[in-house]
Amino acid sequence: MDTIALATLLFPNVTKTPSDMEALFPPRTLSEGAVVSRMAPSPTGFVHLGNLVQGLTSERMCHQSGGTLFLRVEDTDAKREVAGAVEILIESLKHYNIHFDEGATVDGDNGIYGPYRQRQRAEIYHVYAKQLVLEGMAYPCFCTEEELADIRARQEAEKANYGYFGKWAVWRDRPMEDIEAALAQGMPWVLRFRSTGSIENKIRFTDLIKGNLELTENDMDHVLLKSDGIPTYHFAHAVDDHLMHTTHVVRGDEWLPTLPFHLQLFRSLGFKPPKYLHIGPLMKMDGESKRKLSKRKDPELALTYYREAGFPVASVYEYLMTVLNSNFEDWRRANPDAPIDSFKFSYKKMNPAGSLFDAAKLRDVSKNVISRMSTDRIYDEVVAWASDYDTALHSHLTGDPSYAKSILSIGRGGKKPRKDFAVLADVRPYLDFFYDDWFTVTDTYPDTFDKADIKAALEGFMKTFDGADDMNVWFDKIKAVAEGLGFASDMKAYKENPENYRGNVADISMFLRVAVTGRLNSPDMYAVMQILGKDRVFARINAMIDTL
Ligand code: GLU
Repeated sequence: MDTIALATLLFPNVTKTPSDMEALFPPRTLSEGAVVSRMAPSPTGFVHLGNLVQGLTSERMCHQSGGTLFLRVEDTDAKREVAGAVEILIESLKHYNIHFDEGATVDGDNGIYGPYRQRQRAEIYHVYAKQLVLEGMAYPCFCTEEELADIRARQEAEKANYGYFGKWAVWRDRPMEDIEAALAQGMPWVLRFRSTGSIENKIRFTDLIKGNLELTENDMDHVLLKSDGIPTYHFAHAVDDHLMHTTHVVRGDEWLPTLPFHLQLFRSLGFKPPKYLHIGPLMKMDGESKRKLSKRKDPELALTYYREAGFPVASVYEYLMTVLNSNFEDWRRANPDAPIDSFKFSYKKMNPAGSLFDAAKLRDVSKNVISRMSTDRIYDEVVAWASDYDTALHSHLTGDPSYAKSILSIGRGGKKPRKDFAVLADVRPYLDFFYDDWFTVTDTYPDTFDKADIKAALEGFMKTFDGADDMNVWFDKIKAVAEGLGFASDMKAYKENPENYRGNVADISMFLRVAVTGRLNSPDMYAVMQILGKDRVFARINAMIDTL
């Protein structure tokens, strides 16, 4: 075969050579050990937890080593393309604070190794495609869908392996005249790789997460360019990660079976392959067994799920770190207040088999994370979330920020902050009673108490209450009310001889709590009353007395 003639025939307009490309995308000037990696998602409109796991791993490796992280949009599969998907993708990654040093942005590209959207790189791929043809390592295939289906049917009948290889690779050794004739007829063609591999051979390979692996060589003549001239993932991966000088490819382990092909491609193109990290899947318990999280069955796979439910970004991030690095939780216990970025992330601490997603654990982690936030921070988080998902809450909080912050500051700070919120959606039911238009009495007094006692307690409380009292004085006055009504003010004495009392001081507090908050459970009553102020506390107590 005259490969020069074939290459010219297939790519008449390609005048540039691989060395021109090398000159256009010169090596990066980075210090020794700096990692260059990327997120390379396909814009399907669905951004999932796996994307974030991959992104965080790459991000940590790059930024901890003084390297570069970039975003490449892998839009080669037009069939999966959804309008607006690139924007959704970029916006979600931004929401999760994945900072890219270069790559695709909503407004275009940022960086000198672009374009960063693969469909805009067609000319670049063609240079290398032509080179492979010149070297006899790629050839055109004119098989129609029907012919490919027929090959498959015959393979099935013969119980042969499926695919385009060996004797089934019908265009692999076709003479030039056939190719010229097919082109003259305007028949669509794809460019295929001429594999010299055999499934009898194994290749050895070291993955940075999975360790030493032995994989079967690739014998398939896979497609490199589709009939529209757009590359397949495999070809684009080799060309782009070479030209963009990626040092580490972090991706899902569903790509492991095609790795032998990728390594063949790098070699055929004369490229040094990057280091690979194949991440195991996220799994969940389904009854007794583990299974992969699935788009169809598990809403929690979608990133939008966490946003809607009101998990702060910091909670999701913190949780994913517990999943990704086995030593993270120990580190966190030793450094409860340290910024998460000071944790030394290491791919060596990743579980090669994948990680278990545990929704209950996520909630626990989130409670801790939220409990450690300052009042201003939790306020900002809730306001941002509510502006999208609870407009009434948003207007209540922003109507009087200092009032809202005084509520949110209850039990915050100190060594043992309260852990009331797992998600931001928990905030409204926690604080709604602070707003008069939301306040309703939802709980009732247990029947075991005399209405007359309740009424007397509420009235007695109002007689001595003074908003200026500190917590001790305030509580001493409640104790005095208790004693005056025959309720124990000393819990120990009460426990020893409950029959001597009508109840105890905790019951008196409960009478007040139901009147003032409408519930049997609430945040600290002293703080609640300080925030509501005497007039509203009394108005609520009087309203309760009227019902007794
Ligand atoms: N576009 C591929 C995907 O979405 C990227 C895999 C990779 O990171 O190389 O799975």
